[in-house]
Amino acid sequence: MKGALAIGIDLGGSQVRVALVQTDGTVLRKEVEPTDVSGGPTVVLKQFARLIDRISASETSGEVSCVGIAAPGPLDSETGTILHIPTLPGWEEFPLRDVLARQLGLPVLLEGDAIAAAYGEWQFGAGRGLRNLVYVTVSTGIGGGAVVDGRLLRGRRGMAGHIGHIRLAQNGPRCSCGAAGCFEALAAGTALARRARQVIAETPSALPCISGAEIDARRVVEAARAGDSGALELIKHEAQYLGIGFTAVIHAYSPERVIMGGGVSQAFDLLEEGIHNVIQRNALPPFRDVRVVAAGLAENSGVIGAASLALRQEMAF
Ligand SMILES: [Zn+2]
Repeated sequence: MKGALAIGIDLGGSQVRVALVQTDGTVLRKEVEPTDVSGGPTVVLKQFARLIDRISASETSGEVSCVGIAAPGPLDSETGTILHIPTLPGWEEFPLRDVLARQLGLPVLLEGDAIAAAYGEWQFGAGRGLRNLVYVTVSTGIGGGAVVDGRLLRGRRGMAGHIGHIRLAQNGPRCSCGAAGCFEALAAGTALARRARQVIAETPSALPCISGAEIDARRVVEAARAGDSGALELIKHEAQYLGIGFTAVIHAYSPERVIMGGGVSQAFDLLEEGIHNVIQRNALPPFRDVRVVAAGLAENSGVIGAASLALRQEMAF
């Protein structure tokens, strides 16, 4: 059956993900590559073109009518302009939506990545049927997107949901934004890796499974799964920080559910109990029954959400 298709692009600080998406959220084809960070917009736009060629190469079951692109912010989704991305130098004030629309000859929608992912999870993932949810991505950084009263929350210039920069500690670790003690600086995957490095620096024998190897959040999780007691302790602390941040988010938005995505959510089964223990202890009593769940679309929430938002906009015209 012929149907409308959209291209979804998720521009991340470490990976570019491009997918061909149907109106029902099904991903027909997908390509992923490391982001050419040092090249800036010119090179990354060529990267988009190459990946789009690849997913469009074979015969499709419909016609591509639009493109939805999700990117880290802050970005202005009303004007389609990237404002500033700490992890991607050279993109300040870049009019990505219009440049890409000219390059591809298709209508383009630009959305904040966690807002797009919240929409994807709401329509096709772990948030189906809800009127209130918050999606939180926990990876290199922490971002958020919310559905409130049955509407996707965008806020002024489409910049709502920068929950990674809620300050949880006055004198905590330095954040990518320059402040200290942000939720992101305490609980993102990079923070988990930093704590692992600190533990090893203090006690070289503390994490036998990962000592000597390049330390990132994934290795800490692997070591925890292998039963390394030091890694399990790090995961316990990670769950506490996530629980504190999620409690703030639950108080602010009153969601029925919090949906956790991003690389660190691959350890959700190890984190779940600790996160809920903190919410049980710290949230005001009427908020304590709010559950945190793992993203239903895994790493595709952003591409599916961005493509679906673009299709929705096209259909409205
Ligand atoms: Zn910050």
